Amino acid sequence: MSELTGTRNRGNAKMNRDNLFRELRQIVGDQYVLVEKEDVIVYEQDGSIMQVLPEVVVLPGSTEQVAGVVRAARRANVPIVPRGSGTGLAGGAVPAEGGVVISLARMNRILELDLRDRIAVVEPGVINQDVTKAVAAGGFFFAPDPSSQAACSIGGNIANNSGGPHTLAYGVTTNHVLGVEVVLDDGRVVWLGGRAPDPPGYDLCGAFVGSEGTVGIVTKAVLRLMRSRESVRTLLAIFDRMDAATQTVVDITGAGIVPAALEMMDRLTIEAVETGAPVGYPRDADAVLLVELEGVRESTERGARVVQEICTRRGARGVRVAQDDAERLRLWKGRKGAFGALGALAPNYYVQDGVVPRSRLPEIMRQIADISARYHLRIANVFHAGDGNLHPNILFDIRIPGELDKVIAAGEEILRACVAAGGSITGEHGIGLEKKAYIGLLFSDVDLDAMAKVRKVFDPDGRFNPAKMFPTPITCAEMRRAPAKIPAGLWI
Ligand SMILES: Cc1cc2nc3c(=O)[nH]c(=O)nc-3n(C[C@H](O)[C@H](O)[C@H](O)COP(=O)(O)OP(=O)(O)OC[C@H]3O[C@@H](n4cnc5c(N)ncnc54)[C@H](O)[C@@H]3O)c2cc1C
Repeated sequence: MSELTGTRNRGNAKMNRDNLFRELRQIVGDQYVLVEKEDVIVYEQDGSIMQVLPEVVVLPGSTEQVAGVVRAARRANVPIVPRGSGTGLAGGAVPAEGGVVISLARMNRILELDLRDRIAVVEPGVINQDVTKAVAAGGFFFAPDPSSQAACSIGGNIANNSGGPHTLAYGVTTNHVLGVEVVLDDGRVVWLGGRAPDPPGYDLCGAFVGSEGTVGIVTKAVLRLMRSRESVRTLLAIFDRMDAATQTVVDITGAGIVPAALEMMDRLTIEAVETGAPVGYPRDADAVLLVELEGVRESTERGARVVQEICTRRGARGVRVAQDDAERLRLWKGRKGAFGALGALAPNYYVQDGVVPRSRLPEIMRQIADISARYHLRIANVFHAGDGNLHPNILFDIRIPGELDKVIAAGEEILRACVAAGGSITGEHGIGLEKKAYIGLLFSDVDLDAMAKVRKVFDPDGRFNPAKMFPTPITCAEMRRAPAKIPAGLWI
């Protein structure tokens, strides 16, 4: 009789893994319980540098099955790790303490589209982009648009309160979720929020969004749909100096213009995009800004003129205005594919997700350049400049001994610089495993204690996604040095 990893952290509970696996198979069907190494290995990592091989992955097909699996895991006294598409960049879906990984990928149906009430009711495994695809012909869209939107799931978006290029104008996921159906730790199914905006009482739906899978599993969501805008103007401003580009961002927002999106890519990112899938960005530029204005025609035309003037005044050597939808989509294709394109420059990259007040952008970009030079590491920057949300991607080759430690140290310096500039250690990717050692840079013990109490209300045993978000003495570097399959309790 063997024990499933994770049980040893939970008192004296002895769990026969075979019993648990049998029970799981009865709930979801044989083919949806994965235990063989060749089947579970694809679930050992997300988009981050964290990696733990799961012992069992379950793919339920309905809310009832999710509730059944949660009850079985509770009886076995093992952790539960929800997983969407696994594109997260902070290790959130990695089974750090073992237990049961619940993949929501099969629950991918759009259940209802109500364009009069402007809502969509969806299952958590629905891919972000598919919501907009389903309503575009009716003149609507779902605003949160992570650059991973062709792959990431609505459940993951909700758990991480994800943003995207258009966050600047429309806000993050929490602004577009009216209600969630959630399976709690004892298998009960509850609705937080609903179909109507602004319900009375505590905003429990708001508390759930951004909880990174630590308080329950989303099994349905009511999403707010937005009306497509009458007119869209997209501009690409080209700069020979990064400093001029960052100053332009400050000037645009300082002039009272709120573009729908204001994105930046630096020279290395442009090189990656143009090497992988060229879209016509100028390879010799130090930085480009992608600016999008949406609204009624008169205001977007006027806004585009003002943005052009500001860019030119700050020394842009050219501003291209997309002449049609095809050109606009081409400009965006480069930006949305930029992370993937970095693979053309290095075998590995480590994505950071710091935030600074916009006015500090010029200074923080200089600091990042300095960190890059001191560590002898190339850093490609592609980010949501309009809201000060940086994504410095540290390029490296994991096969070079000692390289990863340098990368992690450089990443930590960047985060510390962001906090010192009055910003944050994450804008949208979450804390997960990767950043929990740094959360103390932002929050006091009193703050963290208050958050832990909220978590306990939903999940008294800390069964959902243990070892995430909350600080432990362990650092990211120490975690990473642990062997790939980490016995639970070794480093937590
Ligand atoms: C190329 C690339 C570009 C990206 N661009 C952006 C961007 O622009 N903006 C942005 O915000 N992020 C971005 N990301 C990060 C990532 O795509 C988002 O965090 C996304 O929301 C994760 O969704 P997922 O389905 O992949 O979730 P996963 O990675 O599977 O899980 C993420 C977290 O959500 C939890 N979770 C998943 N499903 C559920 C559920 N049903 N119930 C409860 N908890 C759940 C998991 O436990 C985990 O903690 C990018 C990632 C990549 C690889």
